Amino acid sequence: MENKLDGNAAGGILQAIFPFDMTLVQATCAGCGTTNVIGATAVYMHGMGTVVRCPSCDTALIRVAQVKGHYWLDMRGVRVLQISVEA
Ligand SMILES: [Zn+2]
Repeated sequence: MENKLDGNAAGGILQAIFPFDMTLVQATCAGCGTTNVIGATAVYMHGMGTVVRCPSCDTALIRVAQVKGHYWLDMRGVRVLQISVEA
C-alpha cells in the first residue's frame, strides 16, 4: 500500500533533516542524468518510509525513514544536489 504524491510531500520529513527547503533543491538523477527540483519529483509514502523517485526514469533518488529514533537516509540515486544559497 503506497500513495503517490508530488515532491512537495517529502518536504516535511526532509525539513527535519536538512536546514533548508529541500523542495527547492535540484537533484541530478544517478540513473538518467536528468535534473529536477525535489518538489517536481514523484514521492511515494508508505509504511515507515518516503521514497523520492525520478519523474523521468523512476530511479529512487532519496529514501528516508524514521525508525527507532533515527532517520535513515539513502541517497544513492542522487548524483549531485544543487542547493541555492539564496533560498
Ligand atoms: Zn532518472
